[in-house]
Amino acid sequence: MTSPYTWLTANVVFPLQERLKRHSTVAARRDMEQSQWWDPDRVAALQLRRLRALLPNAAHVPYYRDLFARHRFDPAAVRSVQDLQGLPFLTKSLIRSHTEALKHPQAQGLARFNTGGSSGEPLIFFIGRERVSHDVASKWRATRWWDVDIGDPEVVVWGSPIELGAQDRVRLWRDALMRTSLLPAFEMSQAKLDGFVAHIRQRRPKMLFGYPSALSHIARHAEKQGIAMDDLGIKVAFVTSERLYDDQRRDIARVFGCKVANGYGSRDAGFIAHECPSGGMHVTAEDVVVELVDRDGRVVAPGTAGEIVVTHLATRDFPFIRYRTGDIAVMDPQRCACGRGLPLLKEIQGRSTDFVVAADGTVMHGLALVYVVRDLPGVESFKVVQHSREHTSVQLVVSGAFDRVGIDSIVAGFKRRLGAQVHVDVELVQHIAPEKSGKFRYIVSHVA
Ligand SMILES: [Zn+2]
Repeated sequence: MTSPYTWLTANVVFPLQERLKRHSTVAARRDMEQSQWWDPDRVAALQLRRLRALLPNAAHVPYYRDLFARHRFDPAAVRSVQDLQGLPFLTKSLIRSHTEALKHPQAQGLARFNTGGSSGEPLIFFIGRERVSHDVASKWRATRWWDVDIGDPEVVVWGSPIELGAQDRVRLWRDALMRTSLLPAFEMSQAKLDGFVAHIRQRRPKMLFGYPSALSHIARHAEKQGIAMDDLGIKVAFVTSERLYDDQRRDIARVFGCKVANGYGSRDAGFIAHECPSGGMHVTAEDVVVELVDRDGRVVAPGTAGEIVVTHLATRDFPFIRYRTGDIAVMDPQRCACGRGLPLLKEIQGRSTDFVVAADGTVMHGLALVYVVRDLPGVESFKVVQHSREHTSVQLVVSGAFDRVGIDSIVAGFKRRLGAQVHVDVELVQHIAPEKSGKFRYIVSHVA
């Protein structure tokens, strides 16, 4: 049942706020609530129509104008999404070296974003007004699949103050919700965990939102302390940004007495897919074209695992066309039992994030260290390895823009979080090898 407050927020306050920001979120969400029920062919036709609108527009963007010319790619001649294969991929490294050239000359409301938390490769990019509206709308739609709405009380377990900068997607969402409270996910000391459990009990949220590692950590802590959390009326826990393991899903569901809804996406790649109550991972096909490619960049056969490459259709201001995510998935040819015509992804193997342990035993989210490194200019990629509580090392791949003073700030930043006595060594390398699995892990802890 919808409370009057939630009704007012979802129908009056939020739409008004979005109109003031000149976002078209409300209209976008309304359209998407219709199109999700269309049959797959009709969804595909809409997707193609939007792609055919995006590509000629991209021809006015300096980077793509050159790219199209070099590859003799005629955006007006595109007849299917397969025609995208005539274009090379967009990578983090290309965005880094062509940031200005990727801006549309008539871009509207470009906002600067900084990410790298999920890949170990820092990235600065821009998002226009159209894209903000669409990303918020797709998230809003997915929330409503679970019978919760903007304005329902929510507890968010999330990253650092940097992550919560004014232009952050999470922040936008939090602003929108207005009944959201935030718990910093970094420090997971016993005292902090006690505080988180008490906060959730007192707030009685209808939904939780956060990293699966952090939510399951809080759940297990409550259970160990014998504190019941399944009597608060929590309907659903939305998890994102990390791979969701089965035991995490089980623990979160059992302890909070709620459903767990997995989401896949990132600020750079967009809101790619979200789980529905029937268990399908639905692609936001109205906004995102997903291609799966093999190691050599060729589109894989149906049913085969491949790297997720996305073209975001609401990016006319700063186009993301064939953007490599580094994550692996398989397309599911089945139609979901819920009846939605949006295509399904299965077995998304996103990168995992580990916890690290400070010298005094405090458990922290690995992102606490990632943020120290990723904001330094000239850092191309990095990997943090915690060998023991007393010793952590960092490998860095840097460009000419890197200043060696950065090494001192990494050491100082790590000591601040892990303890002054911890030995931190920083090594500059040419290349960082992926794990045996082929996945890149940017933070690895050998401390149990
Ligand atoms: Zn479904």
